[in-house]
Amino acid sequence: MKAADGGQGGRKGRIVRSRKRSEAAFVRARASLVGGVNSPVRAFRGVGGTPVFLASGKGCRVTDVDGNTYIDYLASWGPLILGHAPAAVVAAIRRRAGLGTTFGAPTPEESELAELVRKAFPSIEKLRFVSSGTEATMSALRVARGFTGRDLVVKFEGGYHGHSDGLLVKAGSGATTLGVPDSAGVPAAFAERTATLPFNDVAALDAFFGERGSEVAAVIVEPLPANMGVVPPRAGYLERLRELTKQHGALLVLDEVITGFRVAFGGAQELWKIRPDLTCLGKIIGGGLPVGAYGGRADVMAKVAPEGPVYQAGTLSGNPVAMAAGLATLRQLRSKAVYRRLEKLAARLEAGLAAAAHEGGVPVRIHRVGSVMTLFFRDGGEVVDYASALCSDRDRYARFFHAMLERGVYLPPSQFEAFFVSTAHDEKAIDQTIAAAKEAMRVAAG
Ligand SMILES: *Cc1c(COP(=O)(O)O)cnc(C)c1O
Repeated sequence: MKAADGGQGGRKGRIVRSRKRSEAAFVRARASLVGGVNSPVRAFRGVGGTPVFLASGKGCRVTDVDGNTYIDYLASWGPLILGHAPAAVVAAIRRRAGLGTTFGAPTPEESELAELVRKAFPSIEKLRFVSSGTEATMSALRVARGFTGRDLVVKFEGGYHGHSDGLLVKAGSGATTLGVPDSAGVPAAFAERTATLPFNDVAALDAFFGERGSEVAAVIVEPLPANMGVVPPRAGYLERLRELTKQHGALLVLDEVITGFRVAFGGAQELWKIRPDLTCLGKIIGGGLPVGAYGGRADVMAKVAPEGPVYQAGTLSGNPVAMAAGLATLRQLRSKAVYRRLEKLAARLEAGLAAAAHEGGVPVRIHRVGSVMTLFFRDGGEVVDYASALCSDRDRYARFFHAMLERGVYLPPSQFEAFFVSTAHDEKAIDQTIAAAKEAMRVAAG
């Protein structure tokens, strides 16, 4: 077995015997698919080794093509808040699929899901469904530019908003560097319309708005960043952002693709009591099928075609099967008891992981809000932004990841992603995870 697969990790507690079929599947995939995958992080480049090919999932567990079973904290990167194949969602998908899968004409389910979304997010007066989070953020910014007549967009270092051209930008050094593309193929002229600031830094925000506030069409932000690992906003930070954008006539766009329906039914804006101009949703609202949405102030959304001059369309937008999956999911999330239960389970996991790290003599920082958390292998300093997140020990995370995988726990294959707890997890699964972590921390300590 290769070292990257945890070969140095000791055999105790290892339940995964063989991944021969995954390895063969990866060889096959690489012959036809770029990098063997259809989204880069799935290739395990952040942790090394061969990606696990999955065959099925039920509840909080997934089974790979070799028949190994894992307790899953990837949750398809966030959507599966009810776990895998929840009965109500599967039934809704079957029912709706039998009646036709797409029409390219309106269906009543679109209004039903829209009404549920509006109930959860009072700031959303009007919305539009799309098919991914990337489409949601890209479209929201087009509307913001169309509404304000300004070009400049502000984002934060380490904030991920999908892969559209203007958003694949991170800052160079310095607080307010002009955008430099993060990807080949993005014209510098596009990237220049995106300014990037460090998150959680009020002084940088004030300085930027003092200088260029009148040019800003929109600020887009994950209110609880979760794509550099989970990094909560400092007290007053989001409030200051709301104040400055309002003062300067810029729109505040909250990217709640991860946090929407995750940290609360009404997302991070409910928790932090921030009313944005526009909100982007994705992941959970599709109940495991491809759905995104953007919406907000009625006067802003009135700019979208066919009511207004900002064009945005989609052959499969508002797809009835996806709407049905979203509806079946959100209906189960309406009860406050669901979020109390998620909090309880995730708090148990957090405490167990902290104890395991402590026992293993491994310094960590755990950031958690409800059922989303990141375990940073960080010696000392706090994690408040992208720069401090990057100080985490990626090699240690990789050792931990593989040691957990071998013990039947599937974590995100990157230090800078989040663990997701679902309603399908239970105390037993959490305790199994903690027991595995106690051993894996020793491997991670290396
Ligand atoms: C996942 C994600 C996106 C992109 O959504 P896709 O459906 O992958 O296009 C955008 N913003 C945030 C915060 C995300 O986590």
